[in-house]
Amino acid sequence: MRRPIIAGNWKMNKLGAEAAELAKGIVEQVAPIKGVDVVLGPTFVSISQVAQATAGSDVKIAAQNMHTATSGAFTGEISPTMLKDVGCDFVILGHSERRQFFGETDEGVNRKAKVALAHGLTPIICIGETLKEREAGNTIDKVNFQVRAALAGLTEEQAGQIVLAYEPIWAIGTGVTATPEQAQEVHAALRDVLVDLYSDELAQKVRIQYGGSVKPANIESLISQPDIDGALVGGASLKVDSFVSIILASNS
Ligand code: PEP
Repeated sequence: MRRPIIAGNWKMNKLGAEAAELAKGIVEQVAPIKGVDVVLGPTFVSISQVAQATAGSDVKIAAQNMHTATSGAFTGEISPTMLKDVGCDFVILGHSERRQFFGETDEGVNRKAKVALAHGLTPIICIGETLKEREAGNTIDKVNFQVRAALAGLTEEQAGQIVLAYEPIWAIGTGVTATPEQAQEVHAALRDVLVDLYSDELAQKVRIQYGGSVKPANIESLISQPDIDGALVGGASLKVDSFVSIILASNS
């Protein structure tokens, strides 16, 4: 039985005090909820304040990106050791916005995943197809390719530590969610890729989140699918009530 994992991707939202207040509100309300892992993804500059707000709780922190070097002449970048130092346990890699606007590639995501694991950070690896790819019937091929590229060279032990997030690009921030059946079909196909790359055991272990306009109104139908193990939530993670409702509905 895989433990559900709900992560909030705050993107480039919330000033420091707002981020701390949001984190505090979430921490208070999820304290009694024991059956789901909760992860918050603030901006780099508010991670410290969010870490203070979550201290002593089970709520974990994810960075939204990471450089592969531990230090050096990489202006504007943040290293894995810095992320650990400031309180991160997770790092979101290969989000479609980073692929689209910042030139992230499958190879780069693969390098970052290896480095993250080496530093004790759990990568949440995002994959997903465009609307054009879906309409052309290429969804499964696309995500299959992305997962194989992201996991290239990872041992079974390393692969067992990652989280995958299937995020159809056409569903991110659009209010249009994949139907539970559409999402389940892709999640099952991703698990088949993991069987092919590693083993049944590994495939049953890796958690696969769905992301793309997840809200309190649709989480139940998504999380009840056999291969959907949680959600990566953008817009609805920016308010205590909506994020906590999603967490509550995922509590097993
Ligand atoms: C995301 O940014 O990963 C995301 C899924 O956003 P939203 O929930 O707003 O669609």
